[in-house]
Amino acid sequence: MKKISIVIPIYNEQESIPVFWVELNSTLKKSPNYEFEILFIDDGSTDNSFEEIEKIIKSNSNVKYIQFSRNFGKEAALSAGLHNAIGDCAIMIDVDLQHPPILILDFIAKWERGAEVVVGVRQSNCESDVIKKAGSWLFYKIMDRIGETKIAPRATDFRLLDRMVIDEFKKLTENNRITRGLIAWLGFKKEFINFEAPQRAIGKARYTKAKLFHLAITSFISQSLFPLKLAGYLGVIIMLISGLFGIHVLIVQYLLGIHGGLYFSGIAQLAILIIFLVGLILSCLGLMALYIANIQQEVMHRPLYIIRKSINIK
Ligand code: UDP
Ligand code: MG
Repeated sequence: MKKISIVIPIYNEQESIPVFWVELNSTLKKSPNYEFEILFIDDGSTDNSFEEIEKIIKSNSNVKYIQFSRNFGKEAALSAGLHNAIGDCAIMIDVDLQHPPILILDFIAKWERGAEVVVGVRQSNCESDVIKKAGSWLFYKIMDRIGETKIAPRATDFRLLDRMVIDEFKKLTENNRITRGLIAWLGFKKEFINFEAPQRAIGKARYTKAKLFHLAITSFISQSLFPLKLAGYLGVIIMLISGLFGIHVLIVQYLLGIHGGLYFSGIAQLAILIIFLVGLILSCLGLMALYIANIQQEVMHRPLYIIRKSINIK
């Protein structure tokens, strides 16, 4: 009998867990030909999420639990799940029912037909928060332009990974990670499943705008060298413009001595030049700092997460 792992990141989801569990169970019952391993990764919840999961564990021996010592973020939680999954494949799913559990059957069907990665693609963005929606649109636009590996827009973390892919994923050591990007980088045979993401069933999104912004910056830096090159392009463009400007001043004002038309006083010329150059230097420095910070984090090689306690994990 093939074994399938279901990886569920949890951060303060005490209300969602029981509802999700009912849905998940009714789905899994429809697939009696598989053995399921359910992994709840508690990303440092401070509510009663653990108590809710404990109730489930009492009557289900195939449910496993990992608790982080603090909130490390969904990416770390997904990684912990994949690191500890023992199934022939693993499916990652959100607990808030925005990833309809019933689709798990379609994921499995595609996997049985040879797909090594099955990606859930959200059809429309039902996000009601305008800023988040615009941010998501902008993120994928930029990512598509500059990312070294393409992340399909609206591709979610609702995914199935074959054992082969999980084993390769486990070899990746970087700390600043976005799971989607890493899986895209790994390659393998991909299939897509389109779905409508309903509104979050219970509670608010656990990702605040600040957290999402941070995640977007991390993704750009870890997936692309373009920002670093951008500083170079910017420098060249500014040098060209100020160079032309300088030549104009030199020829028109100094050599020909024309004082009409486009005329800048010496001080104005200097001020514009200096502002430009200072801006250039600052933007370069800022970008360098981002990359250096990234390098530093990788060099420190801290563990990705700290586990406080685990149940049923070998
Ligand atoms: N989550 C997590 N750690 C976090 C934030 C969220 O493990 O720091 C989990 C959360 O419990 C849920 C999933 O990640 O199962 C998706 O979170 P959310 O619904 O807030 O994200 P969105 O749907 O807005 O992308
Ligand atoms: Mg959600």
